[in-house]
This record gives sequence, structure tokens and C-alpha cells, in this order.
Amino acid sequence: MTITGKTRLLGVIGDPIKHSLSPTMHNRAIAQLGLDWVYVAFPIAPENLETALNGFAAIDLVGFNVTIPHKQAIMPLLTEISDQAKAVGAVNTVWRSPQGWRGTNTDVDGFMAPLKLMRGWSGTTAIVLGCGGSARAVIAACRLLGCKSVKVVARNADKLAEFCKSFQAPNPLAIALEPIPWSELSENLTGADLVVNTTPIGMHPNENAAPLNEAQLAQLPESAVVYDIIYTPRPTLLLKHAADRGLKTLDGLEMLVQQGAIALEKWSGKSAPVDVMRQALLDWFDGKG
Ligand code: NAP
Repeated sequence: MTITGKTRLLGVIGDPIKHSLSPTMHNRAIAQLGLDWVYVAFPIAPENLETALNGFAAIDLVGFNVTIPHKQAIMPLLTEISDQAKAVGAVNTVWRSPQGWRGTNTDVDGFMAPLKLMRGWSGTTAIVLGCGGSARAVIAACRLLGCKSVKVVARNADKLAEFCKSFQAPNPLAIALEPIPWSELSENLTGADLVVNTTPIGMHPNENAAPLNEAQLAQLPESAVVYDIIYTPRPTLLLKHAADRGLKTLDGLEMLVQQGAIALEKWSGKSAPVDVMRQALLDWFDGKG
């Protein structure tokens, strides 16, 4: 990569941000597309968010990704926000328009991308485990996919009630959600077309944990898809047991790749080199990145 007088900057803001895989993935894609751009991680403390945005405008930054703790805080500072981002209540991708900064949430489309390749989802029943930040993108996706029944399973009744309420009108992607206490998960598995794990159960370093045990997996129809949005380890114990049972599985790597690809397409107007982005992450996981 040669930095020239014309090289333009883009990146990801967060605090902390050193762990981010986005520079690895995006710089490989930028090189593939032959763009004179560099993507870097910007550590921005919460109190500096507005100053950073003004500075980004002054240096004509192409655009940026947003991660914890800025995903909600950035929303009032933007000129325009997509319905997906409004539904999720968080922005993860920002780009320039003549009017100002525009934001969206590419996790919704990133999550949906591998599902859309499998089958149609209209009229299906989905079970979503957890009601945290990423569950919000998953629910918005369920609404866009046309799921008929969506059950949200969580351990904290108050948080779950608040979560379900936040998807009522005027949410632009309003959807009726059925709250299920974690203790009643087993009674709700029969007839599920899709089960999504949005909890960190099973994530490194707790690799011996799974949100569903084998007996619970056995209750799912043979056609069910089990989707774990965790990407370390690959596969999680949940997906290993689901695959052993003969169920179709998806892990979180593709969501990570696809949300990045959609962001890159917003910034560049070009088709993203998805295979190159996926390989950049696989190389990183293999310790070659
Ligand atoms: P979050 O906002 O903290 O939400 C986590 C949810 O899981 C909360 O509802 C939490 O419940 C629940 N939970 C945690 N431990 C639990 C347990 N032992 N039993 C039952 N419920 C439990 O986290 P997040 O940002 O949504 O991220 C969750 C996972 O998704 C992480 O593993 C992350 O790596 C992954 N992720 C992947 C992608 C991707 O691109 N593939 C994107 C985003 C996130 P309480 O509120 O009761 O604690």
C-alpha cells in the first residue's frame, strides 16, 4: 500500500477499539478495489464524539463504522438515519452526503444475508435467545424477512418486557414479539423454523457452554436452522451439537463479513469483494492476519 497526497481516510470509532477486526477486513478489500484509501481504528472517548465528527468533516473523511460506546450516542449528531437504524436504536455505519453525515445499521442486512440464500422466511416462526444490542438487529431482520411469529427468550423479565415494547409503533419496523422466560424455553422449541443465539453463551473463553442442550435441540424440526452469531470459536458447541443432529447451521463470521461489505458499498459505490473480506478474517483467525 502506498500512501499518497491523495490518500483518503476512513475507519472505525470506539472506546476501546484496539481489538477491532474491521481494519484487517476493510484494508484488504480497499487494496482489492484499488482505492487510494486507508481504514484505521480511532479511539474516541465519549466526551470527544462531537468534536471528532466535526474534525472528520473538516478532513473530508470518507465514512466510518461505529462501535461501543457510540452506537446510540451518535444518532442525534447525524442528519439522516435509516429505518433499520431507527428500529435497532443504533448506528454502526456513517457516510457523508452534501447535507451532512448519514447513518444506518448494516448488522440487520448483514445478519439476513446468509439466511436469504437458504430459503424464503415469510410466514415462519423464529426464536431469538437474548434481548441485548445484537438481538435488536436480529428482530429488525425477522420483521424484514416476514417471519410470522417471533419469540424472544431472556432471563430478565423487566428487560425483556422493555425490549418487546420498543418494537411496537412508532418503531418503523414494528413487530409483535412474544416474550418467553428462559425457564420456558423447552416448551417453545417445537415448530421453530429458526433459532438465533444472540447471547454470549458459548463464546471464547466459555467454549464448553451452550444455550440449548442436546435434548432441547432434539425437539426442533429437522428443517430448522440454528444460527449462532458468535464467531469465536467456530463452530460453537451449540452449532456443533446442531450439526451432529443434522440441522442446518450458520455462524457469526458471515454476518461480520456481510455487515462490513454493505458498509464498504455505501462508502465506495462499488460492489464489495466479499470473498476477499472473508479470507482476511479467516487469515486473522488462523494467526496469519
Ligand atoms: P449484549 O448487548 O450484552 O446482550 C447479550 C444478551 O445475552 C443479553 O440479553 C443478556 O441478558 C443475555 N445473556 C448473557 N449471558 C446470559 C446467560 N448466561 N443466560 C441467559 N442470557 C444471557 O451483547 P451483544 O452486543 O448483543 O452481543 C452478544 C453476542 O453477539 C456476543 O457474543 C457478540 O460477539 C455477538 N455479536 C456478533 C456479531 C456478528 O457480526 N457476528 C455482531 C454483534 C454481536 P442480560 O441482559 O440479562 O445480561
